[in-house]
Amino acid sequence: MDLRAKVESIIEALEAKFGVPQREARKDPLNVLIGAILSQNTSDRNSGRAYQALRGRFPTWDDVLSAETDQIADTIRIGGLADQKARRIKDILLWIKKTHGRLNLDFICDMDPQDVIDTFCRLKGIGIKTMSVVLCFACGRDVFPVDTHILRVSERLGLVPPKTPPDKAHRILGGLVPEGKAYPFHLNLLAFGRGICKARDPKCEECPVPEYCLMKSGAMDLQG
Ligand code: SF4
Repeated sequence: MDLRAKVESIIEALEAKFGVPQREARKDPLNVLIGAILSQNTSDRNSGRAYQALRGRFPTWDDVLSAETDQIADTIRIGGLADQKARRIKDILLWIKKTHGRLNLDFICDMDPQDVIDTFCRLKGIGIKTMSVVLCFACGRDVFPVDTHILRVSERLGLVPPKTPPDKAHRILGGLVPEGKAYPFHLNLLAFGRGICKARDPKCEECPVPEYCLMKSGAMDLQG
C-alpha cells in the first residue's frame, strides 16, 4: 500500500474511533503565536497558565512590548524557560511592530502558507511547528502541524522513518495528508497519541490501526 492510501485509511479509522473534529471559530493569529511560543517544552496546563498570567498583567501586546523583559519573565515563570521565552516574545513583537507597523498578524492569513513559514521561521523561537499551528488554528488554513505526539505515532505507523527530524517530518506528512484533512487528522492523531499510542505503555488493545504498527510487526521498538 502506498503512503497516501495508508494515510487515508488511518484517517478513516481514527474518524470512526474519535469522530470528525469540526473547526472552532478562528482565533487571533498573534494570540495563537504567543501561546504557541509559551507552549514550547512544557505542558498545556502550565503554558495555559503562563498565557493567562501574561494577558492578565499586560492586556495588550503593546503593553507587553513596553514592559521590561524581566517583568515578562516573572509573569510567565510557571511556563518554564521563562527568561528565554520572555526575550523571544519581546524580540518577535518588536520585529512585527517594526516590519508591519502594528501588533496584528491578520494579514498572514491571506498569504501563501509556505511564504509565512519561510518568513517567520527566520525569527528566533519560531519553528515550522509553531507557524503551522498559527496557520491551521488561527487562519483556518489546510496546514498540518507536527508535534511530539504526532511525530512519535507517525514513526510507529511507518509514515515517516524512525528518528526523522521534526522539520523533515513536517514536509513529508504535509505532502501525504489529503486536501481538507489537515485539521481533523491533526486533532485525531493528537488524541490517539495522547490517549492510546502513548510514549510509554501504549494501550495497544485499544488501537484502531494495529495493522500498520511497526512495533507490533517487530520492525521497531519503544525507543524507535
Ligand atoms: S499497536 Fe500500539 S504502539 Fe502500535 S500504533 Fe497502535 S497503540 Fe501505537
